[in-house]
Amino acid sequence: MMKIFKKPAAFQTFCHNLRTQGTVGFVPTMGALHEGHLSLMQASTRKCDHTVVSIFVNPLQFLPHEDFSQYPRPLKRDLELCRHMNVSAVIIPTPESMYTPPFTLKVTESALSRHFCGQSRPGHFDGVLTVVLKLLNLTQPDVLFMGQKDYQQQLLIRRLIDNLNLNMRLEMVPTLREKSGLAMSSRNQYLLPQQKIDAAGIYTALKAVKAMHKGGVMDSKHLSRALAKQLKFIEGFILDYVAVVDKNTLENPGPHSRGLVALVAGYMGKTRLIDNILL
Ligand code: AMP
Repeated sequence: MMKIFKKPAAFQTFCHNLRTQGTVGFVPTMGALHEGHLSLMQASTRKCDHTVVSIFVNPLQFLPHEDFSQYPRPLKRDLELCRHMNVSAVIIPTPESMYTPPFTLKVTESALSRHFCGQSRPGHFDGVLTVVLKLLNLTQPDVLFMGQKDYQQQLLIRRLIDNLNLNMRLEMVPTLREKSGLAMSSRNQYLLPQQKIDAAGIYTALKAVKAMHKGGVMDSKHLSRALAKQLKFIEGFILDYVAVVDKNTLENPGPHSRGLVALVAGYMGKTRLIDNILL
């Protein structure tokens, strides 16, 4: 029987007991679950004895003009999917229970979060780090599962775990895509059919830059320019940023770089889309 919790304290006690019965994997989400989320749950149920999931549209990580109130919340369907994935427990807290006043603290990171989504969405990662730290303290999992789709986010959570000595490991799960190549996202349901078709061009461009790199083009600036150029051909896509950077620091690669990541973000109409590929 899958347990459903609304109260953080009761969930915390449950997780505490669960840990005496084996390893615990944790998958934090904002709901509107799709196969990408399910692949995280599957990775968790494969590797851990128990899997717990959170569904929480975190107000702290949305900017005032963003889609917090419109964000899809198909809760009944989400819970059915979790049940189907053999999840042991789900926490669906209210904002009030997560941020009971006086709530006067937040987690800020000052290097990885300065660029890219952190620059385009000021304060966004403070909100993410704060909620994830809270959820990790409630769950205290052995393994935290996060998607490669939000590459900068998983890198920041890795930094949170290392810097604050959290006793767990993070496993990054590859991005699940539609047949067209479009990265699955809860926000894809905002897209019109034609926008969805056009948005698949983002992954085509990322694959092309990976092929260039494989073919011997090593200069990150050159790769980034080539990527930007190809993205310009996507109908209706307004580029926010494009970059080819060190996959661990998100800085320009130096001699000790252990690999590159190509990052893209932009808008199809009002819908923000992000994607990336490891080179
Ligand atoms: P979200 O509900 O969008 O906050 O995402 C919850 C978790 O699912 C995050 O770790 C995401 O990176 C991950 N995720 C979202 N979309 C995908 C995808 N297409 N493939 C793999 N993981 C994903």
